[in-house]
Amino acid sequence: MRRPMIAGNWKMNTDLASGTELAKGLASHVAGKDSSVDVLVCPPFPYLQAIKEAVGDSGISVGAQNCYFEESGAFTGEVSVDMLQDIGCDWVILGHSERRHVLGECDGTINKKTKAAIEKGLGVVLCVGELLEEREADKTGEVLDTQMKGGLADVSEADLSKIIIAYEPVWAIGTGKTASPEQADEAHAHLRKWLSSNYSESAAEAMRILYGGSVKPSNAEELLGQPNVDGALVGGASLTVDNFGPIIDAGRTK
Ligand code: PEP
Repeated sequence: MRRPMIAGNWKMNTDLASGTELAKGLASHVAGKDSSVDVLVCPPFPYLQAIKEAVGDSGISVGAQNCYFEESGAFTGEVSVDMLQDIGCDWVILGHSERRHVLGECDGTINKKTKAAIEKGLGVVLCVGELLEEREADKTGEVLDTQMKGGLADVSEADLSKIIIAYEPVWAIGTGKTASPEQADEAHAHLRKWLSSNYSESAAEAMRILYGGSVKPSNAEELLGQPNVDGALVGGASLTVDNFGPIIDAGRTK
């Protein structure tokens, strides 16, 4: 049994007041409900500590949207794994498509960051996903294989337990276009097969694979109902309790 996770990627949104209010609203939303779903929120760096405080002992985890692979030193503008753990972060999102395609991150960099995080016990949500032209050219499988191979290079099977994969087709992120439940499940099954071939059947079975790309209350239950979909990574709809709350609740029905 894989425990479902619903994760919110706030991207470069909210301010201190609205982020704190959102976090408190989510803490109230989950209060008193069964804890069969993991909930994670990933605010911008400057608000991590305040959001950690705002979610309190609600059971909601807090994660960052990026980190750097070096421990400390002359790396202007970067944030280390130690710094994130120092303020109570449990997770970091790595390889998000906006980091790959807007900020130019490659698999090699994502791999260094992944290894730096898991070495210290910081959980990684590792994002993979194809562009529209890659899907149209029937290259989805190939792209996913390359990103998995690159992102997980030199990661041991034991360390896979600190990693969650997020399948996020780039054409579905922030566009309102969602992969159909069948398309999502097919890609997730492909990723599981890759894990089985490159690690083991049990590693593939144990891996949580989240779907991301325009998840909203109206489509969450159907997407999460797919056998290989273990949760969701949510962007736009994670910014209000009215939208993210029902998606969390859909995770409980898994
Ligand atoms: C994301 O940022 O990871 C994402 C999936 O965004 P959205 O839900 O807005 O498509």
